[in-house]
Amino acid sequence: MENADTICAISTPPGEGGIGIIRISGPEAYPILKKIFLPKKRQDAFLSYTFYLGYIVNPATKASIDEVFAVFMNAPNTYTREDIAEIHSHGGLATQRAILSLIMQEGARLAEPGEFTKRAFLNGRIDLIQAESVLDIIQSETEDELKCALSFLEGKLSKQINTIKENIKKTLVDIEALIDFPDEDIEVDVKTHSSTLITTKDFIDSLIDSYYEGRAIKHGFEVLIVGRANVGKSSLLNCLLLNERAIVTPLPGTTRDMIEDTIHVKGIKLKIIDTAGLRKPKDVIEKEGIERVMRKIPEVDLIIWVLDGSAQYTEGDEDIYRHIRHKNTIAIVNKIDLPLILERERVLSKGFRIVETSALKGIGIDALKEAFYENLMGKGIKNRTTLITNVRHRDCLVKTRESVKRAIGCIKQNEPLEFAAFELRDALFHLGEITGETSTEEILNDIFSKFCIGK
Ligand code: GDP
Repeated sequence: MENADTICAISTPPGEGGIGIIRISGPEAYPILKKIFLPKKRQDAFLSYTFYLGYIVNPATKASIDEVFAVFMNAPNTYTREDIAEIHSHGGLATQRAILSLIMQEGARLAEPGEFTKRAFLNGRIDLIQAESVLDIIQSETEDELKCALSFLEGKLSKQINTIKENIKKTLVDIEALIDFPDEDIEVDVKTHSSTLITTKDFIDSLIDSYYEGRAIKHGFEVLIVGRANVGKSSLLNCLLLNERAIVTPLPGTTRDMIEDTIHVKGIKLKIIDTAGLRKPKDVIEKEGIERVMRKIPEVDLIIWVLDGSAQYTEGDEDIYRHIRHKNTIAIVNKIDLPLILERERVLSKGFRIVETSALKGIGIDALKEAFYENLMGKGIKNRTTLITNVRHRDCLVKTRESVKRAIGCIKQNEPLEFAAFELRDALFHLGEITGETSTEEILNDIFSKFCIGK
């Protein structure tokens, strides 16, 4: 990025904190730091990557603003590949604002959201996948999510995309040679290329397939709790959440609407939805609630079907079973602290995994969490080398795959080679969108606007 101006921002979250970090990036970073920072021990020049203790002083009034640590980082080995200065001040709003406005007074401008990372991308230090992963890292809530985002920052997915790109490029170059020099005896075996393209397409397919797991890591799964009124659904949700989020009462049908909350089980995020008791509705509100549950059933990843172990299996239970029989379901026999009356065989015959619990006494909750994990993840996640977690990447890969598929079709049907070449160029364009080489300004703005200021 040539002729870039100098930007600055508070990079730590707003509010009170032990320390607050203000970052300056650009050609004026060093001169500005020199002007406003007075080290305790006199220094003629600041060494790169060295911390100095001193004061931020307004050069015009000589007034001291805060005692700080300052560090200067010399381009190009920095986050943005530009000169960077960081001031580690006390984490108060007034002190950080005063320092920031002093920096701006000296010629820097306030950075836009994500502008430091955008500069890292525009200056070629990282590609777009890696830039997006920075946001993923910041927003990670679970260990698996973080692990995945970190692997993107390290360039794992970028490498895979580049391998696909290279394979397509090689084929395209050969096909273009055939187009340009049709009479010459070029040793190009179109059939070999066709099989390279098929292998490439299969690889793209596997990446697209991984989006299910990737999405699960990033966004989590939806789990719907269903069951007759009063079987213990809300109590079970409370046990899972370990707080009294849902209202539990002994009157049937009190959870009229759906209540949602999120728990983390072995690194995966589960959005648990408690529902209105599925029974014949007595009023309009309850009817609407039940209809919403019915609509929700096909959308969720897992059903928790709660049965009352201290009561007989009823027509109401069977009714519910009819709605969920094709779904991934865990059947829960609840209230096992009371004498068992439920006919276990009736439940066993449904073929679902069964977990016995007492929501009242907190029994069986760990077994239930284990069952969640196994039903949703199986052995999947750990075996994959790379996962797609970003819908933008998936959409671009789908477009790439379609182009590659069409190119294969053109070659198979002996169509003019120009057609296949056109498709392959299109595939390369979509791959370039993932890494950022062919992304429009609009796409870039859209991505970086999601960042916070100071990142
Ligand atoms: P929901 O209508 O299915 O959501 O059921 P609730 O969670 O509101 O529970 C209905 C009643 O059953 C409440 O009085 C609970 O205290 C009671 N209950 C829930 N789970 C258990 C359990 O495991 N054992 C016993 N003994 N009572 C339970």
